[in-house]
This record gives sequence, C-alpha cells and structure tokens, in this order.
Amino acid sequence: MRHQRKLTQHFTLAEFTTSQVAIRQGILNEPSEKTIERLKEVATWLEEARTLLGFPIFISSGFRSPRVNHLVGGAANSAHMDGYAADITCFSFGRPYVVAKALVSIGKFDQLILEYGRWVHVSVNPHMRGEVLTATGKGYLKGLHDV
Ligand SMILES: [Zn+2]
Repeated sequence: MRHQRKLTQHFTLAEFTTSQVAIRQGILNEPSEKTIERLKEVATWLEEARTLLGFPIFISSGFRSPRVNHLVGGAANSAHMDGYAADITCFSFGRPYVVAKALVSIGKFDQLILEYGRWVHVSVNPHMRGEVLTATGKGYLKGLHDV
C-alpha cells in the first residue's frame, strides 16, 4: 500500500494522510508526489522532535486535500494543503504547552503554533521565519502562552 511507505525512519505517509473527517466522509486524501516530498521535510523535522522528546509523536493532522481542509475548518491558505505542516501531540512527554516549549529549541521551522493549548502546529517550508505563536479563541499571541 502506498500509504505504508516510510517517509523517514519513524514516520509513514499514512500518518500524514489519515484524517477522521476524510474517513467518515469517504474522501480520498491523496497528496501528489511533489507534496509527498514536502511531507518528507516535515517528517525529517519531526524525527529531530522525536529524538529531543524521547517519545513517539502522534500526528493528528498532516496533509489535507482542499476538501478535507474545508471540512475541518482550516484556513483558506493552510500550509496543511501544501504538505508543509503537521499538528502533533506527545502526551508521553507532556501537555502541548510543555511540548511546544521544548520544540522551539530545534529551530528550522516556519511557524510553531500552540493551538488552543490542545496541539502543536509546525510548518516547515522555504520561508523559515522561525515564528512562534499561540492561537487562542480570540486570535494569535506572539510567543508561547499557557492559556
Ligand atoms: Zn495545523
């Protein structure tokens, strides 16, 4: 199966494409080869994150086709549609705020966003702004905030 293909030592393509919304709606969530190459860059960053945290990382959302992105209420220009982003948790290490704090030290990301205190969004793309944000119900705050 194509999605069992490994992107890096610990991450398969399936971990980036599995979407509960897509499964429920019967939608194929298939990235192009070009997008898979981008997902590989994200997976490479996640390997560093896994090493740093010392525990496996769970990807709750990786690639999203435009339809899946729309159904989950993603931003119209979401990095998830281009294969540049992943939403992750690692509760074996700690809650998302603690995980985000640890992962900032890796650098080499475009954005690292603690979203609603519930997961960490990381994007790896050519911009590499190293921007760290906290998403709250009211908007974005600069830096990490335990809200
Ligand atoms: Zn995200």
